Order: sequence, then C-alpha cells, then structure tokens
Amino acid sequence: MGCSDNRCDFKLMKLHRRPMGDEDIEIQMKYCGVCHSDLHNAAGHLVGIKKLEYPMVPGHELAGIVTNVGAKVTGFQVGDSIGVGCMVDSCLECKNCKAGNEHKCLKENTGTYQGENKFGRAAVAGDTKLTLGGYTNKMVVHYKFAILIPKSYPLEMAGPVMCAGVTMYSPLSTHGIKSGSNVGILGLGGLGQMGVRIAKALGAKVTVISTSTAKKELAMKCGADLFVVSTDKAQMTGAKGTLDLILNTIPSYHNYVMYQSLLTSKGIQIILGLHAGLAAAMFLDPMVGGTSRIKMSGIGSIRETQEVINLCDKHQIFPDISVVPVTELNAVYSKLDSSNATGTRYVLDIANTLREDIVCDAPPPKIGPDTNKMSLGSIIMELVGLITCCRCC
Ligand code: NAP
Ligand code: ZN
Repeated sequence: MGCSDNRCDFKLMKLHRRPMGDEDIEIQMKYCGVCHSDLHNAAGHLVGIKKLEYPMVPGHELAGIVTNVGAKVTGFQVGDSIGVGCMVDSCLECKNCKAGNEHKCLKENTGTYQGENKFGRAAVAGDTKLTLGGYTNKMVVHYKFAILIPKSYPLEMAGPVMCAGVTMYSPLSTHGIKSGSNVGILGLGGLGQMGVRIAKALGAKVTVISTSTAKKELAMKCGADLFVVSTDKAQMTGAKGTLDLILNTIPSYHNYVMYQSLLTSKGIQIILGLHAGLAAAMFLDPMVGGTSRIKMSGIGSIRETQEVINLCDKHQIFPDISVVPVTELNAVYSKLDSSNATGTRYVLDIANTLREDIVCDAPPPKIGPDTNKMSLGSIIMELVGLITCCRCC
C-alpha cells in the first residue's frame, strides 16, 4: 500500500523487493503497525530535513514469519516469528555502531522506509531509490536488523513494540528508571500507552498527562497511577515538582517548556514527537555539555528492541491495538491527524486483507495544515528560545 504524494491517498501498488542475499531474511508479512511518524513522512511534515520520494510505502512496525534465510544468516530459521523496526542498516563501523547503538550511527542509520542504501545492506529493486516499508506482503531484511519475536508473543501485538515500544523503552532504560522513579507520560496515543506499561514493568510510579479526561479509563487500564489533565490549571499545579522523567509524545509543535514545572529539580523532559522542538532539543544538549533538562530521544538500538520485546513477553505487556484491513489506511491517517481520540495503535491486517483483488476507493484522509514547523529557520528560532529559557538547563 503506497501513496503517490503528500495527500496520503493509499492505493494498492506493485513494487519489488531485492533478491535474497546470503545475509538476508525473507519475511512473509502478517501485520504492520501504523505509527504517527508514517503520517509525518507521507504528508511531507519532515520535508525541510529529509529527502522525500513517492511512491512511498511507510511502515516500521513489521511482524511476520521467516520464509527463507540466506546461507550466512545466524539466529533465525524458517518459521520463526520476526520483527523489523525503524532501521534496516547502519554503517556498523563507527564508534556508536560498534557500541551497539546503530540507531545513533554517526553516518546515519538507514530507515526502514525512505532510507538510502548507503552501506550496502538495504538495496532496493526496480525504479525505487529509497527503501520501502512494511505496508507490504513481503520484506527482505539483513539479519543484523531483524528481531526475533518470542513464539508465545501474539504476532499482531508485536509490530507496535518494534517502534512505539523501543522508542519508550530506550529513554526509560537510559535514564535508569526503576522502582521508586516517578515518570510522566505526556500524550496517550500509540507511544504513550506503551510508555505507561513499560515504565510500570520497570517499577516506576506513572502519571499520564493528557489533553482531556477522555482517556482516563485507558490510562488506568494501562496501569497508570495518576492522571493529570494538561488544560486543568489546578491539576497541573497539584503535579508540580513531582516527576523525574517526562516522555513527551505530543506529535505537533506546542509549548513543551510549560511542562518543565512538573519536574523535580533534577528531572528531565524528553521530547519524542517529530516537530521543531525535538530538533532544537537535539542541538541544545551537546551545546550545554549534556546538562540540558530538555533532551530528545530517537527510537532505540537493535539490542534494545530485542530487550523490549523479551520484556513485553515476560511481563505480558500488550499494546491496546485495533487490527484493521489495509483498505482502512486512509481513515486511520485521518484519525491519527486528529489526535488519535481512542489512543489505540492501529495495526494493518496484512495477511488477510492485502490481496490483489481489494478495492481501494476510500476518500483521501483529512489532514490539517502542517503545524510541525520542521524548517531550518524554525529550528534555529526554537534553539534560540531554548538557550534563553532559564528552565531548560
Ligand atoms: P498518536 O498515536 O497519534 O498519539 C499522539 C497523542 O498525543 C494523542 O493521542 C494525544 O494524546 C496527544 N496529542 C495529539 N495532538 C496533540 C496536540 N495538538 N496537543 C496536545 N496533545 C496532542 O502518535 P504516536 O504514534 O504515539 O506518535 C507520537 C509522536 O512520536 C509522533 O510525532 C511520532 O512521529 C513520534 N515518534 C517519534 C519517535 C522517535 O524516535 N523520537 C519514534 C516514533 C514516533 P492525549 O489525547 O492523551 O492528549
Ligand atoms: Zn514509529
């Protein structure tokens, strides 16, 4: 399922995967989660900072079954449950890659979609120049970028762990969240709900900060201890100075500095949503010698992805998902663009619904104006704002 331009009108397309190499794994796709990043990419929200190519096939929460392994593949066999997350290659030679942090590759990792085959393990086929993601029947991936899904873990739940899960797990684990820690999860959508569950499994007390009371029930179902409505002044004042770590998953540009008041004196807010604030936070922290109390985080390593799927299996952590036919993609994009009212993670039922005879006649999604401000100018303005803000460092 691909789209031809930034209207995100998904249609059935016939595109090609590269032939299998000795170190490749072939995957029969079963499910793919739909991340808000798919919408940002397809709708061109990242156009100021990233190359764009259409047709685009997003999807970086892949789950399927191994159907073939190259002669040099280790760790995977035909019949295994397998996942692929946000990257399919990196240089594997820089100091970050060698330390097992491929997601921080100094030469930039290769995205599962819209990535360039710079290091030779992410070749594409046909006329396509950039990688094609998981809204597809078949995937070919280098074995070093594949994740073994425990057999006991439901495959339809596993895709969301590959991006949403690891994106939350990585900062929780990096910042040493454990029993006694106080964690705030800001925005209860696909990432947020995984964040609540994983932080609870690590022993933290979790506060969900949401725009309305609508998701209180979901928050409590995920295991949250406290629920704060961000538009309620009294509730925000009540939560002042209580949180060691806030994971901010709000997808559009907003006043994130206002949430600093909820932190303890050494607390840190991590921006995860793809907007100018995330880019500014990325530059601010190194500029102040790593002392910024507004930081960013991006996905996680292959090791962390394997750790988090194992953790989810061990603690029976399951995301709240809605399995939908691929013909509903346009409707899903409309829902994600309007704040994901139910907080669910939509998961495409590839195995049962991605067939040559499907009819893709749904109207294009309703997508509002781009509020992410991801241009070089807006990022510099944001950085200047942060440097002069006394609550950030
Ligand atoms: P999602 O399912 O659409 O959920 C986002 C949640 O944020 C919504 O459910 C809503 O929660 C809240 N929200 C939405 N619009 C808002 C607004 N204008 N103001 C305040 N709150 C708002 O999205 P997702 O898949 O979790 O992704 C969240 C963000 O993380 C996206 O920007 C995505 O691209 C990014 N992301 C980043 C990384 C990374 O590596 N840094 C990885 C994956 C995704 P409430 O109803 O509770 O307020
Ligand atoms: Zn994602």
